[in-house]
Amino acid sequence: MIKPEILNRWTEEASETLYGIKNWGNGYFNINKEGEVTISPCPGKNSTEVSIMEVISGIRDRGMDMPVLLRVENILDSQISHINNAFKNAIEKMEYQGEYRGVYPVKVNQQQQVVEEVARFGQRYHHGFEVGSKAELIAALSILKDKEACLICNGYKDEEFIDLGLYAQKMGFKCFFVIEIPGELELILKRASLMGIDPNMGVRIKLSSKAGGHWSESGGDRSIFGLNTSQIIEVVDQLKERDMLHSLKLLHYHLGSQIPNIRDIRSAVVEASRIYTELVKEGAQMGYLDLGGGLAVDYDGSKTNFQSSRNYSTDEYCMDIVEVVKSAMEEANIDHPTIITESGRAIVAYYSVLLFNVLDVARFDTEHESTALEEDTHESIKNLNEVLQTISLKTLQECYNDALYYRDEVRELFKHGKSSLRERAQAESIFWEIMSTIAKYGGSLKQTHPELEEIETAISDIYYSNFSLFQSVPDSWAIEQLFPIMPVHRLGECPGRRGVIADITCDCDGKIDRFIDPLDVSSSLRLHELKKNEDYYLGVFLVGAYQETLGDLHNLFGDTNVVSIRIHPNGGFDFVREIEGDTVSDVLSYVEYDPRQMITNFRGTAEEAIREKRITVKERTEIVRAYSQGLSGYTYFEED
Ligand code: PLP
Repeated sequence: MIKPEILNRWTEEASETLYGIKNWGNGYFNINKEGEVTISPCPGKNSTEVSIMEVISGIRDRGMDMPVLLRVENILDSQISHINNAFKNAIEKMEYQGEYRGVYPVKVNQQQQVVEEVARFGQRYHHGFEVGSKAELIAALSILKDKEACLICNGYKDEEFIDLGLYAQKMGFKCFFVIEIPGELELILKRASLMGIDPNMGVRIKLSSKAGGHWSESGGDRSIFGLNTSQIIEVVDQLKERDMLHSLKLLHYHLGSQIPNIRDIRSAVVEASRIYTELVKEGAQMGYLDLGGGLAVDYDGSKTNFQSSRNYSTDEYCMDIVEVVKSAMEEANIDHPTIITESGRAIVAYYSVLLFNVLDVARFDTEHESTALEEDTHESIKNLNEVLQTISLKTLQECYNDALYYRDEVRELFKHGKSSLRERAQAESIFWEIMSTIAKYGGSLKQTHPELEEIETAISDIYYSNFSLFQSVPDSWAIEQLFPIMPVHRLGECPGRRGVIADITCDCDGKIDRFIDPLDVSSSLRLHELKKNEDYYLGVFLVGAYQETLGDLHNLFGDTNVVSIRIHPNGGFDFVREIEGDTVSDVLSYVEYDPRQMITNFRGTAEEAIREKRITVKERTEIVRAYSQGLSGYTYFEED
């Protein structure tokens, strides 16, 4: 497809532009002179770089198979520092009198290692946690030590949840109960009074402001969570009646995740700040304004208000928030509150990369051998062949229509027994030759011939790859979220093929055929021709947020191996943690099988085969051993 002179002139810089790595990599990912993707933990000049291929080689040496989820500790550290410093700078610049306290929403990535590292790297900024369930509160309490950090309890709360939160408060944690539904107030007050504690309470408000993007339904009047203004007034009145208004200290909202447009963020802060000032006027103690999550990640690097992007920087986000809150408070002559944000995605997305190898490729533009057609060849096939001979720039549209027509005609004939399988195969091979010839006329014609885009997709290769979309990048399937995907090596070579990526779940939805593009969404990705006896590795980047948590066991592919590295300032890196992925036995037990019983059953089946003289006793031993080994193996494609 690509001219040989272009193939030979290709450089790492050309790959950099093609895959847009500088646009979405946030400085953490680059391409080195060897044509490999590198990781720079502290973006900036003279930053240390580690090649992902070096990491893969270390993973292989340790006997681990692909796919592997690679976590880079330093990136998490950098992202936590980045948001805390951006708020610090905004506060200093705007002479804001309050503080900033970040809380990490555990739901975004609940893995123990991730939560522990957030607590460790966040301690110097008193970065706390947001929990939305009892289990998340229990997890957070096993890790959080910093009493200056906030612990925000969202979600529906039963007695046990409330009691645990109250105990946390008693032990000195800044634990807040956010009232999500009106009925919660009564229970919180009852449990707190039994324990003799004044609970720290907050209310979650349903803003009228809404944000664009995938999660727009999280905000607005019809959002599921939160209280409307009349319910908030009811809460205030009930607290007043019981002389407990001093317990109301926090106002919270969450507009939705991945808010691409800064205008939406600003307008929500304006509305919430106004409500905050009114609550102070009502007599509530207040002191904390919690703006929820929503700080977006620029997955496609376009810096626009497209749903996979954001049209603002973290600095602009922080400045806008501080400025809006400050001016609302000053207008109402009210003390500046502590600003809380619950950013999750922006903190953990960059931290993880999914790495996998390609197992095989299916091509659709295989050269058709243009042998002369037999005299008695079916008329429709002869017509198809004629279309192939007459393609030119001028006849593109006509040839495209004719090819479809004659191809379908042969299919119909086949259905009715009027053409053979061989004839149908011949027709389809000529058809694909026509399609790839049309596609060679290239992108310049796409505007006048929109069907060319479809052809390009139809003739793109399928790269069968060793991973499960449903387990490792579920949002790509569920909400068509875009993630940056690219080869992690061979970037000094021209990627001469176009492909889509299929996983190994054998589900027709188990494929990635939407890729980032600076102007649009692309339906195929430029990839390299596979080389014999050489693995080809791809990376899906920015998968640290939500993907691990939402992943499922489709086709019983389990958790992948996880490897964490720490990069040293002077170069080099350590493997700080290796977590083996699920075995077949693990995933089967998740779906109620008992692996021991399974072996017993299988032994019985093999014994029966001996009785039926199908296998020997020796073969039985071998078969049962293979079965047991299968149970203890990795759920993904294993190398011999
Ligand atoms: N806070 C709440 C209440 C949420 O529901 C969520 C997730 O949607 C977040 C925070 C995290 O949002 P984000 O990952 O966009 O920062």
